[in-house]
Amino acid sequence: MEIIPDSHDLSRHTMKEFAALLEGDRLVVVMVPVGAVEPHGPHLGLGTDEVISLGAAIRAAVILEDEGMAPLIAPSVPYGVTESAAAFKGAVSVSPDALTRYLHDIISSLINDGVQHVCLVNNHLEPEQIAAVKNATNAFEPGRVSVACPVTKRWARTLSEEFKSGACHAGEYETSIVMEFAPGFVREDVRQKLPGVSVSLSERLGRGVTDFIEMGLTEAYSGDPSRANARHGRDQLEKLATMIATEVLEAIGPGRSPSTS
Ligand SMILES: [Zn+2]
Repeated sequence: MEIIPDSHDLSRHTMKEFAALLEGDRLVVVMVPVGAVEPHGPHLGLGTDEVISLGAAIRAAVILEDEGMAPLIAPSVPYGVTESAAAFKGAVSVSPDALTRYLHDIISSLINDGVQHVCLVNNHLEPEQIAAVKNATNAFEPGRVSVACPVTKRWARTLSEEFKSGACHAGEYETSIVMEFAPGFVREDVRQKLPGVSVSLSERLGRGVTDFIEMGLTEAYSGDPSRANARHGRDQLEKLATMIATEVLEAIGPGRSPSTS
């Protein structure tokens, strides 16, 4: 797996280095990758969603730096609301309230420290997770916090045909991203032999079916992992990075400087 460049990794900053950044001229933007510990077919690791959030955040940091900001990536929140995959081993779920509270406290601490903007980067797309992440931002001024999550129409339409079809759990889309960013999370020999599964999760969820088994995902994936490739993953990650940077820049708004925040 790629690692976060030193200058963008909050964990590697000392307290004095972090303080110096907060006192500097550039807006300090902290991205918090959010994931889930969730079954992703017989070919991907349980930590796939966190990996996708992290890979996208690393690329978004480059864009935000080019925009004159000081981007940092905070340690991830790897656990999420993982009920749909509960029939399979490895669905380690927390309650929506617990996730909301935990994320809220992280945002609050960072803002109290003097961080100008916090972006929650979420790539676990279970509806209760999406709501829990959004709710974590409710108590803050809109300019101080944002959520980057590809499930809205605006961002979904920038992603692959498979993603848009809703048949996108551990299929071509997610598997390609993991092949690009964290190949150690992929079992190549298994992946290449998997048959495509064309169950649209968004369609099933819309009808109130939330359990993977009830949806027909007998191996906890939908989509076509055998079509995945790293080049496609690179392309999709760049689109996720654009999504994050755009959400941050729009939330902050034009003409905002550290002195006015
Ligand atoms: Zn996933």
